[in-house]
Formats: sequence, C-alpha cells, structure tokens
Amino acid sequence: MSLGSMADRRTLRTKDGVRHALPLFLPVYQPREPVFQLAREEIDGCIVNAYFLYKQRELREQLAERYAEWLTGPSSLKAHVGFSGLIATDSGAFQGLTRRLYLKNADIVRFQDRIGSDIISPLDLITPPGDKRTTALGKMRTTHKRVGQALAIAERGLVAGVQQGGRFLDLRRDSAAHMAELEVEYLAIGSLVPFFNRAHSLAFAGAVLRDARRLIGEQVPMHVYGAGEPVELPFMVALGADVFDSSSYAHYARGGWYMTPYGALADPGRLLAGEYRCPCPHCVGAESVEAVFADFEALKAHNLWTICHTVRELRALLARDGDLNHHLQALLDVHQRWFPESRLGPTWEALHE
Ligand SMILES: [Zn+2]
Repeated sequence: MSLGSMADRRTLRTKDGVRHALPLFLPVYQPREPVFQLAREEIDGCIVNAYFLYKQRELREQLAERYAEWLTGPSSLKAHVGFSGLIATDSGAFQGLTRRLYLKNADIVRFQDRIGSDIISPLDLITPPGDKRTTALGKMRTTHKRVGQALAIAERGLVAGVQQGGRFLDLRRDSAAHMAELEVEYLAIGSLVPFFNRAHSLAFAGAVLRDARRLIGEQVPMHVYGAGEPVELPFMVALGADVFDSSSYAHYARGGWYMTPYGALADPGRLLAGEYRCPCPHCVGAESVEAVFADFEALKAHNLWTICHTVRELRALLARDGDLNHHLQALLDVHQRWFPESRLGPTWEALHE
C-alpha cells in the first residue's frame, strides 16, 4: 500500500467539513419503516424525499423556521430524521414522472438547502429508456438549466449535477461534459437504473459510467440514482461510481427475493445446499433460512444489511489498496454458475475489449 494512493483516494467532502470515505450506500429513509431503526448500526447515510416533507405544509414551515436555531447545531432535517450522519435529499423528480407536481425547482432547492441537506437534488427530468431523441434532448436541456439555477441558490449543501440523456450515449456524454463545465462538485447519474434488469447487462450502463467518470475528472464523487442491487454495485464502483441509493431492499422483499452478494434468490435451495451462508444478525438469529424467506420484515432487514455490507466491503478493499478486479472475478465465478443466463460477465468482459 502506498501513501500516495491513500492521499489521492476520492472522498466526499460535505460542506460541514466532514470527509466521507467512498463508496457509500444511502437507503431511502421511510419514517414508518421499522427496518431503518433495526439496521441503524449498518447505515452510513441515507436519502430523504424532500418533496414529501415539503408538501406537508405545517412540517415544511416548522423545518424551515427552525433554520436559524439549527445553524450552529445539527440541521433541522437531521433532527427530524433523528440521524446525525450524512443525509442527501431528492427533489420529487420521481413523483414528477407520473403526475404534475406544482413544484418549482428554485423552491424545492431552497427548501433542501434551508433544512440542511448535505446533498441537494435539483428537480431533474427523468428520462425513461423509451423516450425518443427529441424528448431526451429537451429533458436534458431543462435539467441542465435547473442544475445551473440550483448552483446559484444553494449555500449550505452540495448540489448534485444531474446527468440525463436517456438511451443516447452522445447525449449522456454532452450532459456529463456540461456538468464538468458547470464545475459541479458532485455528479449524479439519472435514469440509468431502468437499463438494468434481471440479466444485469452492463453494455449501455457501463459505457455511460465510464464516459462520465472520464469527463468529470477523478475527484468528483459520482452517484447512481436508484442503484441498490448488491451484485451490480461492485462493477459500478470499478467503472467509477461512488454513491448509491435505493429502496430495493423493500421491493425485493415484497417480491420474495433474498439478496446475496452473487445475485438475488427466489427460493432457499442454494442456501440449504450450503452454497452460501449469510452472516447477518437476522439470518444468524433465525430458526432457519426458510423462516427468513417467510418473514417479510426479516427478509427486508436481511436485504438492507446485505447491500450495506457489500458497500462496506468495497470501501475496506479500496482503503487497503486491494485487488478490485480479483474481487469482481470471484463474484462473477459464483454469479455466472448460479445464473448462467446473466449478461453481467459477458458484458463486463466486452467493456474491456
Ligand atoms: Zn442475512
């Protein structure tokens, strides 16, 4: 291990002066989710939907009014969530995909800044893979304007420069280059996760991430909005991504999926055959692995632990200058044996040709 590379290692420096080691996983905070309380020990940060806070008028005023008294202490957002670690917020962009929000970019950005979010999301325009070129271009340009506006407004929080561009690699590149011109200190890759599915293909997403990392430079943290599949995260890290957020742990549990570092399982067969044993407290404390599958809350807690642990392992590996490629190869050996149809291995290889 060389001291030089330790010093050069990319970190996330929030405006309160705290340096956060990367990579990081930010589970989506859901106030009524007991799992969040259960897993608090494993959580290094979280993401909160600022739009949900903002649309509750009384709460909105309360949070914004407390601004002054919290200037010297924890922010009103941190007090509200009851969590003093890193908190990012999102803007309601996802909700905006399905309904009209009556929300102005400037207002939701100012609100996130006032309540003390560490990482502020502008109201970007989500661009699903089906959007045609003119639509993707229009959404990208509007997103760019809103990022510029957010950078001018925010005083306390880091503004996420959001890349859009849909399924068009040249637009993705233009968007990342524009963020570099704006000199953003934090880059977020928007609308990329829909390009993944059970086949885990890196063909498009891998190229987007690699290009974005090249264009934004080595030091700017790069967040992939909505990413939370444990077997994909290490590959995204190798391609230059650092921060992930998701509520996948709950979605997967709802569908009966049990996450492992090698991919999610629909039934306990491989576990019963001894091919993998989960060291998480929820599995260790359970009567049997079937009991974890049968208990929605336990499955959710296990899934959340698995994502957090995956990212912590990566962080520890990078901190000791470990061999990431060797780690990826070991993951692929098991993954491709378990899921022979998966495109993860073949598309990963193809990225290096
Ligand atoms: Zn477990």
